[in-house]
Amino acid sequence: EALPLGQILFSQGFGTRRQCQALLTKGGVAYQGQILRDADHVLPLAGLVLHVNGEPWPYHAQALIMLHKPSGYECSRQPLHHPSVLSLLPEPLRQRGVQPVGRLDEDTTGLLLLTDDGQLLHQLTSPRHHVPKVYHVQCKHPLAESALQQLCEGVLLQERDPRLAERPARADAAHLLDSGLLSLTLTEGRYHQVKRMIAAVGNRVSGLHRAQVGRLVLPPDLAPGQWCWVEQGRQAVLN
Ligand code: URA
Repeated sequence: EALPLGQILFSQGFGTRRQCQALLTKGGVAYQGQILRDADHVLPLAGLVLHVNGEPWPYHAQALIMLHKPSGYECSRQPLHHPSVLSLLPEPLRQRGVQPVGRLDEDTTGLLLLTDDGQLLHQLTSPRHHVPKVYHVQCKHPLAESALQQLCEGVLLQERDPRLAERPARADAAHLLDSGLLSLTLTEGRYHQVKRMIAAVGNRVSGLHRAQVGRLVLPPDLAPGQWCWVEQGRQAVLN
């Protein structure tokens, strides 16, 4: 598959057709060390890496990225009290309309996926898909073995929806790490679920970090505030 350069830049979020043309005219786009100025220049898409304003830009038909969410950022588009996680991304990704897959609280850190693939977004957030998520939880008080057991057996949470209220919230796994943090695996995604489950066993969350979504693990060299492409694509998350 191959496309004209103008169309490629447009698809990658580099602005309107006119803005893409302006970027080309000022010599902002290079391919294999050559500056390209012709919007009609056809390039193969497989493995395509452009350099835009000196930065490598690998072509992706759809964007799927992971962000190491720092504390102090909100996941909503119209944040109320803190900057949005979207402000941590380069303009072309925002331009493409990438959206967070689910939400992390403002004070939660760790792995946040974002995509402009509406179908994938829907699949990943649908409760039917049961994508497991692994949280590392710092608790205020020591956790007894009985509390771990209770988290796995299920705890009742206060819910507005009476059907939800009668269904226990259950961890798929709960164990203590060498660091003393609690590793908690959840497949549901209720509002403030970790914090409410920990409260339900008489404790309190003092630090919350998401380490894994599906088979995707937060890369250890991805610092808070940094993002990277998910090169394995959606399969890495869905099964
Ligand atoms: N559970 C919470 O309580 N907060 C999060 O950010 C994620 C899961």
